[in-house]
Amino acid sequence: MSASDMINDCPVLDLRNIQFSFTHAKYLLSEEAIIQTQIKDFKLGNAFADAFIVGKLFILEMYTNAVSGVSLEFEDRDIISIKDFSREEINHIFKTAKSMEPIAAKGSEMLRGKILATLFFEASTRTRLSFEAAMHKLGGSTIGFAEAEIASVKKGENLADTIRTVDKYSNVIVLRHPLEGAARLAAEFAEVPVINGGSGAEEHPTQALLDLYTINKEKGRIDGLKIAFAGDLRYGRTVHSLAYALSLYNVELYLVSPESLKMRREVLQTIKEKIPVIEKTSLEKIVPLVDVLYVTRIQKERFPDPAEYAKVKGSYKINLQTLSEAKKDLIVLHPLPRVDEIAAEVDNTPYARYFQQVWNGIVVRMALLSLILGATK
Ligand code: ASP
Ligand code: ASP
Repeated sequence: MSASDMINDCPVLDLRNIQFSFTHAKYLLSEEAIIQTQIKDFKLGNAFADAFIVGKLFILEMYTNAVSGVSLEFEDRDIISIKDFSREEINHIFKTAKSMEPIAAKGSEMLRGKILATLFFEASTRTRLSFEAAMHKLGGSTIGFAEAEIASVKKGENLADTIRTVDKYSNVIVLRHPLEGAARLAAEFAEVPVINGGSGAEEHPTQALLDLYTINKEKGRIDGLKIAFAGDLRYGRTVHSLAYALSLYNVELYLVSPESLKMRREVLQTIKEKIPVIEKTSLEKIVPLVDVLYVTRIQKERFPDPAEYAKVKGSYKINLQTLSEAKKDLIVLHPLPRVDEIAAEVDNTPYARYFQQVWNGIVVRMALLSLILGATK
C-alpha cells in the first residue's frame, strides 16, 4: 500500500520538533507541517520540496507500520529500508536466494518480458551491474542510466517526473541517489516497485541482505556471533543498514571507528535497545574476539570538508599483522570498492570472503527480483 493510500486513515499527527536530516536539506518541520492534507496538495519541483515530502512520508510510514504490522507479501513490494523487514522475511529471502544458486549458474526465463530500470544518480559499479546481471540471469532485460550528468536530470527535471516517466517503461526500478529519502519519494510516485540501491549516507538495504546472507552461509548461523564493523560508520550507508538488520539477531556488535566517524546516533539509539553494542577507536583488542570483521571504506565523497577527510584517511589497515591474533575461522567482509583498508596480502587467506560476497549479491538480488515480480512466492 502506498503512503498516499494510507493517508486518509491517518489521524492528525503533531510533527512539531521532529528533526529530519538529509544530505542536501536539513529541515525542522514547522507547526504547519501536520499531516492532514492529501499528498497531491504538496508542491513539488526541487530537492528541497522532495525532502520535505519525504519527511512526512517517513513519519506516516512509521505510524502505519506501528499500527498495522509489516506486510509478509513480497509481490509488488518496495524495498526502501532494511527496517521494513522481519526476521521471517529475511529468512524467506535467504531460502529463495539459495534456490537461485543453480539458476545463477545456468540462467532461466523466469522474468522473460520484464524490464528492470536502473537509475543511478551516483557512481556505482557493483550494485548496478549486480542488479543487471541478476535480471539477465532470470531472462529479463534492463534499461537505465549510470550518470545523472548525461540524463535529462541535468536539464533540471525533478526526481518525481523522472520516476513517473520511467515507471511507464519498466516493471521494477532500482534507484541510487545522493539525497537521503529519495528512494522513499520515488516509491510514492512509481506504480511499479522501487528498490533502494543506496540513498546518500542513509541506507543500502540490498547490500545488508547480501551481507547477512554471506554471514549465514559462511558461518552457518547469525545468532551467537560477535561481529565488528571497522571504518567509516558515519557516512557508510552499508553499515547503517547492516546494523539495523543485525539487531534482529542475537549478536554482539563492536563498532570501531575514528572519533569523528562514529556510528550515526539515530542508528545507535535504535540498535542499542536490542543488542549489546561496544564502541571503540582501536581495532587491536577487538580482532581476537570476533567471528566477523566487516571493513568499510572511508567515504571521501561525503565529507563536507576535505581537511576532515585528510585527518582520518587510512585510519585502519587490515593486513596479516592485524590478523595475527584473529580466531582461525574469522571471516573478513567488505562491501567494496576498497581503497587501502585491506591489504592485498589478505586476499589469499581463508579470512577473505569479500569476493564471495559479490557472488552472493547476485543470488540475493535474483531472489528479490523474482519475489517482487511475483515469479516466486
Ligand atoms: N561505489 C560502489 C562501487 O562503485 C557502489 C556500489 O557498488 O554499490 O562499486
Ligand atoms: N558500495 C558501497 C556503497 O555504495 C560501499 C562503498 O561505496 O564504499 O555504499
